[in-house]
Amino acid sequence: MTLSTPPAALGRIRADVQSMHAYAVQDSRGLIKLDAMENPHRLPPALQAALGERLGALALNRYPGDRTADLQRALAAHAGMPEGFALMLGNGSDELISLLAMACDLPGAAILAPLPGFVMYAMSAQLQGLRFVGVPLTADFELDLDAMLAAIERERPAIVYLAYPNNPTANLWDDAAIERIVEAQGAQGGLVVIDEAYQPFAGRSYIDRVARHGHVLLMRTLSKFGLAGVRLGYLMGPAALIAEVDKLRPPYNISVLNCECALFALEHAEVFAEQAADIRRERARLFEGLARLPGVKTWPSEANMILVRVPDAGRAFDGMRERGVLVKNVSKMHPLLANCLRLTVGTADENTRMLAALEASL
Ligand SMILES: *Cc1c(COP(=O)(O)O)cnc(C)c1O
Repeated sequence: MTLSTPPAALGRIRADVQSMHAYAVQDSRGLIKLDAMENPHRLPPALQAALGERLGALALNRYPGDRTADLQRALAAHAGMPEGFALMLGNGSDELISLLAMACDLPGAAILAPLPGFVMYAMSAQLQGLRFVGVPLTADFELDLDAMLAAIERERPAIVYLAYPNNPTANLWDDAAIERIVEAQGAQGGLVVIDEAYQPFAGRSYIDRVARHGHVLLMRTLSKFGLAGVRLGYLMGPAALIAEVDKLRPPYNISVLNCECALFALEHAEVFAEQAADIRRERARLFEGLARLPGVKTWPSEANMILVRVPDAGRAFDGMRERGVLVKNVSKMHPLLANCLRLTVGTADENTRMLAALEASL
């Protein structure tokens, strides 16, 4: 049976939702997938077998139970969470970002973030009916401190998001500028969320400084670490704040499979640390290769991606895809990203092929 006219029930779906585009996942079949900051390495075969046995023995007939608390403790130890802090789990950081918007949904509330930035900050605000305030970065993708401070004073946002490092620009912002923003946001009674999705590849973390403030939350995820398929994000902060946000969490949001995979990965953290080290070495090699390509501009990266500007991003993207390499064309995401592509760091072999495809497509 086919329905030729939309059912009347569609009229009950929010108009703003009906005019939205669904989040598009690029078709990557048959391509070298370097578009989504995934870790290119899988578990070694012996660990795959051991994990399979562990997962097979789980009580799938039961709702998630005590193991969730084990995972919270293991993540807190892994991250070096400060005293007096608590940790909550999300089905990816994406879920935590949605819950934060829900938690702060007071009349007139706003969420503020630098742009270009991670799309979920704006999307969570829009879906919750909150204002989103985007403050442009400078042309070199640094924080525009004066503009940030002015926007905080003017808008008094409930939340300021700072991705550290930022996506898609891959850089770590100036720490003195971050401190000024954190102080200004605290002075007007707002929250700051430091998003450290790319922490495994970065030279610095905010974890050592987070306990100095009572209004800063630190968010991390196992996605870029190497478990993008597992969906596991976590939010750390002063226990009283986390307790409130945690009330909004669907009670069984972390499946027993996600939970056990994450525990298994933390037991073998050294394997993932070696993968991250390989990715950082490959990132350095990619920079050397990119420096040899005429007309390609790069910016510093502390993440598993490199932002590049090419003479014609559409042409380069299409040319690379024709040569079997899928990257992300971010050139239409924000005016500051004109003619920019975002390259995820892959394995040595993938990177060699990516460089060759880019060179041939310029
Ligand atoms: C990839 C990414 C995330 C991770 O989201 P998950 O839902 O945990 O996969 C969070 N923040 C930023 C800035 C990212 O780039």
